[in-house]
Amino acid sequence: MATKTCCVCGRTAHGQQWWNRDKGYGLCLDCAAAWIMKHHDTAEFERSYGKAGVHWGKDNPALARLIVQISEEARKTPKPTFKNLPQLPQGIGPEFLHLLGITE
Ligand SMILES: [Zn+2]
Repeated sequence: MATKTCCVCGRTAHGQQWWNRDKGYGLCLDCAAAWIMKHHDTAEFERSYGKAGVHWGKDNPALARLIVQISEEARKTPKPTFKNLPQLPQGIGPEFLHLLGITE
């Protein structure tokens, strides 16, 4: 697994090198979630940081893809709830969704 430094918080980031990042730098899952849930622009996000589960979030690809899905959903629905979200991958509980500002 390619280990990198998160360009936002400096913690460990997992993923392949993305051309739009400095060599050795990536994005950790927490910072990816924070960015994408704030801006809801997944196209712009992908240009900056690459593909979910490949260039970032390789330590938990299912969660990385879920974050993108949730963001897409949140763009359509200003206040997404548990009900209109895709099926949660195993090991992802409501605590994580609360972190993203999503409540029941
Ligand atoms: Zn980070």
